[in-house]
Amino acid sequence: MTEGYDFDLFVIGAGSGGVRAARFAADFGARVAVAESRYYGGTCVNVGCVPKKLLVYGAHFSEDLDLAESFGWSTGARSFDWPHLIANKNREIARLNGIYRKVLGQAGVSLFDGHARLRDAHTVEVLGKRYRAAHILVAAGGWPHKPDVPGAEHAITSNEAFFLPQLPRRVVVVGGGYIAVEFASIFHGLGSRTTLMYRRDLFLRGFDDGVRTHLREEFERKHLQMRFNSDIQSIERQADGSLRLRLQDGEVLDTDCVFYATGRRPLLADLGLDTTGVRLDRRGHIEVDDQYRTAEPSIFAIGDIIGRVQLTPVALAEGMAVARTLYRPEQARPLDYKQIPTAVFSLPNIGTVGLSEQDALRAGHRLKVYESRFKPMKLSLVDHDAERSLMKLVVDADSDRVLGCHMVGPEAGEIIQGLAVALKAGATKQVFDDTIGIHPSSAEEFVTMRQSTREVAP
Ligand code: FAD
Ligand code: NDP
Repeated sequence: MTEGYDFDLFVIGAGSGGVRAARFAADFGARVAVAESRYYGGTCVNVGCVPKKLLVYGAHFSEDLDLAESFGWSTGARSFDWPHLIANKNREIARLNGIYRKVLGQAGVSLFDGHARLRDAHTVEVLGKRYRAAHILVAAGGWPHKPDVPGAEHAITSNEAFFLPQLPRRVVVVGGGYIAVEFASIFHGLGSRTTLMYRRDLFLRGFDDGVRTHLREEFERKHLQMRFNSDIQSIERQADGSLRLRLQDGEVLDTDCVFYATGRRPLLADLGLDTTGVRLDRRGHIEVDDQYRTAEPSIFAIGDIIGRVQLTPVALAEGMAVARTLYRPEQARPLDYKQIPTAVFSLPNIGTVGLSEQDALRAGHRLKVYESRFKPMKLSLVDHDAERSLMKLVVDADSDRVLGCHMVGPEAGEIIQGLAVALKAGATKQVFDDTIGIHPSSAEEFVTMRQSTREVAP
C-alpha cells in the first residue's frame, strides 16, 4: 500500500481496541504490525471484564446453593477454595491469550512482544529496532490509580486482586465506580468480611438514582458493610500482617486488605509522545478529533487512552472506525456515543441504556416514569428475605419516546442489550406496550408496565 515504510499501520497495544483495528486493517489489505508489552487481549481479557465476570459467577454460588436447597436439593457441607478458582481462571485466560495471538497471526499481522516507544511521527522503536510506518495507532489503554495517601503501597488494585494467593478474611474496597461495587460483591459473595468505602453519599454517580438506591438496599439486605462520606487518611502495616486504617473522620479500622478502585489513568509512561506533536487534553488523555486522529496527523489513538467511554465494546468500535477511515473510507461513519448500553456486574447486576431520570429532567424533558419492583420467580421458594429486582422506564411525556431503560436484577445486562436496539430505533412507549411479553420471564415486565408511577417535569 504505502511505499517507503516498513508497515502501513503500526499498532501499539494488543488490547480490545488495538486488536480490532489491526485485524480489520490487515483484512482490508494493509501491512500491519502490533507491539504488545504485557498480555494479548489487553486489560479486558487479562485483568478486566473476563476474569471479573468469572469471579462474579463464582461469588453468586453461595446464593445459588441456598436456592438449590429451596428446590429440594441437599448440597452438603460447603467450602470455597480460592486458589482453585484462580487456577481455573488463569487457565482460561491463558487459552484466550493464545486465541488473540493466533487471530492476529492468521490475519497476517507482524507481532512484536515488547514495549513500544514513539521516536517520531512515523517511527516506533520496539525490542531495540526502529520501524517506519505510514500511520501509527496508539491503543495502550489505562492503569489503576491509587490516591496519594501514606501507606498506599500496602493497598492493592484490580490488577493484583485477580492474583491474590488467598482470599482475604477482611477487605476494604475504596471507591464508588464500577470496579468498587463489582469487587465488593465478589469478595462479599465469596465470604470475605467486606466494607465498601466511598467518599460521597451514594455510589455509582451518574447512574439513575433509583438504581443506585436499589443497589444500596440490596447490599444492606445482604449485610455488605457500606461506609459513605468516608475516606482513608493513612494505612499502616501491623506486626501481625494486618492493616490499620486511619480514616479522615478520625476513626480507626483494622483489615487484611485494602483495594483501591479509585479510577484509571491513561498509560502514557515511556511512550515517547514528546518526540511527536501528539497533545493531551485537559484530563490528561490523548486528544483526538472525530476520526481519532491526534494533533500529529499520522498518529491515531483509541480506547481507554483517549478516555471517552472506557468500555471494551467502545474501544472495539473505535478500532473498527480507524481501520475504515484509513483503508475503507467509503464505509467510515462517526461513532454515536449516545445510548451506549452498559452493565455493572455487581450482585445483583445492573443494566442500563439511555438517560437516567435525573439527566432527562436536566435535559428539559417532561417525563412519565414507570417502575416495577418484584421478587424474581426463581427466588419465590426461598423463605428468607430474597433479592428484589427493579425495572424502570423513563419516557418523554410529549413524544412518548422511551429515553431510558434501567434494571437491577439477575441477567440485567442480557435483558438491557435487547432493549438498547429498541432505543436506538427510537421506540416509543406505545411500541413497548404493543410488544408481546415472554411468559414467565422477568424481561416481560418491561412490556407490561401500563400505569406510570409518576409524572415529573423539570
Ligand atoms: P487495553 O485493553 O488496556 O489494552 C492496552 C494494551 O496495550 C495492553 O495489553 C498493554 O499491555 C499494552 N501496552 C500499553 N503500553 C504499551 C507499550 N508502550 N508498548 C506495547 N504495548 C503496550 N469493560 C466492559 O465493557 N465490560 C466490563 O465488564 C469491564 N470490566 C472491567 C473490569 C476491570 C477490573 C477493568 C480494569 C476494566 C474493565 N472494563 C470493562 C474496561 C475495559 O477493560 C477497557 O475499557 C478496555 O480494555 C480498553 O481497551 P483498550 O484497547 O483501550 O486498552
Ligand atoms: P470509575 O471512574 O468508574 O470510579 C472511580 C471511583 O473512585 C469514583 O467513585 C470516584 O469518586 C472514586 N475516587 C476517585 N478518586 C478518589 C480518591 N482520591 N479517593 C477516594 N475515591 C476516589 O473507575 P473504576 O476504577 O471503577 O473503573 C474504571 C473504568 O473501567 C470505569 O469507569 C468503566 O468505564 C470501566 N469498567 C467497566 C466495567 C463494566 O463495564 N462492567 C467494570 C469495571 C470497569 P467520585 O464518584 O467522587 O468521582
